[in-house]
Amino acid sequence: TYVVTDNCIACKYTDCVEVCPVDCFYEGENALVIHPDECIDCGVCEPECPADAIRPDTEPDMEKWVEFNRKYSEMW
Ligand code: SF4
Repeated sequence: TYVVTDNCIACKYTDCVEVCPVDCFYEGENALVIHPDECIDCGVCEPECPADAIRPDTEPDMEKWVEFNRKYSEMW
């Protein structure tokens, strides 16, 4: 899965939401989040993010961000 990280906080761009083929972005408290079970790992959102906030969870130390994304995407 791809995850939104702290660079997203207070970002006003939604380019990532527009390109996601499965609509798995959700509005968190002060950042967008990606539902980790709905993301199909296509990667098209990553280069669209002007804040470089979207990272694959295969990078080191991403567990807390996966949980952050899960928590806020399942809130609604
Ligand atoms: Fe959506 Fe693809 Fe980004 Fe996952 S990697 S959030 S499916 S655009």
